[in-house]
Amino acid sequence: MPRKAVFLDRDDTLLNTLPDTADLPVPGDLLDPSRAHLLPGVGQACRRLLDAGYLIVLYTNQGGIARGSGTLRGFEAVDDRLRELLQPFGVTLAGVYACPFHPVGSVPEFTQEHQWRKPAPGMLAAAVAELDLDLAQSWAAGDKPRDVEAAVSAGIARERCFLLATSGEVGARCVDLPAAVEMILA
Ligand SMILES: [Mg+2]
Repeated sequence: MPRKAVFLDRDDTLLNTLPDTADLPVPGDLLDPSRAHLLPGVGQACRRLLDAGYLIVLYTNQGGIARGSGTLRGFEAVDDRLRELLQPFGVTLAGVYACPFHPVGSVPEFTQEHQWRKPAPGMLAAAVAELDLDLAQSWAAGDKPRDVEAAVSAGIARERCFLLATSGEVGARCVDLPAAVEMILA
């Protein structure tokens, strides 16, 4: 039977990347695990989703890899660190989908447009196929309009998608992930 999921962006949805990368050439390119910190309330909010029977699936653009701000290995190290940060809350991730491609890059192998790069729906489509997910019962949240647009393109109803204000997006629907989870579980 297909399962229900909450699709979450990673940077500035779960991880507080902007203050932790403000000194880098491209702030927000978080590819160093020593800079990875959870936003307030994220661990507990994810725990509540799991308790309600949702799988948690990450879908994250990592164009910094194409820009040469870091490497796939750096991404994987941050992913390991994120899982460590979530572990005290008993939170496990059902899937992590990342897109290292960007059309304007400096690393040739990753410098291209790609069907996984948000706002395209490729990462969600891959997750649906691999994890047997029911989009009619699923939700999505992220701090950028492209996070919402990718989810809507994949087939999640717009009212089940939350734009968060965690990176200052004007017109955001929720202040942060805990607020979105409150609405999902209401
Ligand atoms: Mg983000």
